[in-house]
Amino acid sequence: MPKESIDLKAPLEKVLLVILDIREKQKQWDIKNVQKEMEELVIACAGVIVDSMVVKVSKPTASYLITESKVNEIVNLLTIKNVDTVIFSHDLKGSQQRNLEEKLHVKTIDRTQLILDIFVRHATTQEGKMQVELAQLQYLLPRLVGKGIELSQLGGGIGTLGPGETKLEVDRRRIDQRITRLTRNLDEVVSHRALTRKKRKEKGVPTVSLVGYTNAGKSTLLNILTDAGQKTKDGLFTTLDSLSRQMLLPNHQKVIISDTVGFMHDLPHHLIEAFRATLEEVKEADLLLHVLDVSDPNFRDLHEAVQTVLKELDSLDRPTITVLNKLDKLDKNTKWAEFENLFENSVCISAMNKVNIDKLLAKISEMVGGFFVEINADIPINRMDLVNLAHDEGQVYSVKYYNEKINIRASVPSHIAGKFQ
Ligand code: GDP
Ligand code: MG
Repeated sequence: MPKESIDLKAPLEKVLLVILDIREKQKQWDIKNVQKEMEELVIACAGVIVDSMVVKVSKPTASYLITESKVNEIVNLLTIKNVDTVIFSHDLKGSQQRNLEEKLHVKTIDRTQLILDIFVRHATTQEGKMQVELAQLQYLLPRLVGKGIELSQLGGGIGTLGPGETKLEVDRRRIDQRITRLTRNLDEVVSHRALTRKKRKEKGVPTVSLVGYTNAGKSTLLNILTDAGQKTKDGLFTTLDSLSRQMLLPNHQKVIISDTVGFMHDLPHHLIEAFRATLEEVKEADLLLHVLDVSDPNFRDLHEAVQTVLKELDSLDRPTITVLNKLDKLDKNTKWAEFENLFENSVCISAMNKVNIDKLLAKISEMVGGFFVEINADIPINRMDLVNLAHDEGQVYSVKYYNEKINIRASVPSHIAGKFQ
């Protein structure tokens, strides 16, 4: 059990957001999106934003990232506002963070720490917790200066929830050892999963992975499709661990469908690394359902952000259905069908109101259709095992028993069809 438990009744932490508009970055993600995403991230870790400011950075400085005069502006703001934590929308070097804290006299954290904090709050399984701890230690390691650091200082509020099992005083070497151990354990998880996937593949059950920007409605859709009972919550990252369920398509074809961790804009590369066990599912999926909240005016950017992560995972070429969700939130006059023209293989749905789910299911059946073939075969009377196989692996339409033979009509995975000839 983690040492620190999260007190849900604790007063909300008062946050000042510093949104950095960094000119140098070639591909500019609209600064409004950055702001919105940061706000949602803060809310997801039980913070309340008392103020936010946008700071244009034309040339990042070594000492504070922003100019000293901007730092002084923040100092002035802090004297009038009651703020517990200052959060930067851009990653800070260890030295910049320390310099800022010295000037500001309040806890100062960056975007990665904020994301890690959310991960800590929401990791539930052993695997999820290991992934989070690993990511935290990897983040912490290059920031350790001098001989040692007292991790016991961790443990209060946003960005400082410590890795579960970390002892009070941990030096660099012990952190290294812990990282090695966690990496090894996670490798085992990965290979275990690879084995499970291989077994599934041998059984010919296609796998479907839900991907999409966080809060798009993936878990809601999974629930509807499988009654998985996965918790849905309006907030970022309420699901951290991958969850796989079996479901039956209307044509009775079996598929495995998995929910994945939320994707976000510019997910730091090392976080993708840390969550590779979960994301591995995506790489191997036969079909991706890219869930997109079309009621968000920035939906094109959200789509792009997810595509970027998929590219990072070498998964852009996977067969994909773009699921345009939250149809119910669109203005009545919106010609939503036109959205479907924007993306290849797309279906407009409302997961919440269960609108067009049948259409989506038909599309899924169509896209994974190649896996199954129809058979109408006469098999020896002593081959009940084949009848059982057809029941286990496919859909049986009819079984007729004669004196000498059994006639079976079914739809079965193509790789076992030969057994019935
Ligand atoms: P995830 O992060 O992609 O797994 O998103 P969730 O499934 O947790 O959904 C995030 C929020 O969006 C929840 O509050 C859902 O109730 C809501 N939501 C999901 N689908 C719909 C929909 O079709 N319409 C509306 N209005 N809200 C939805
Ligand atoms: Mg979810």
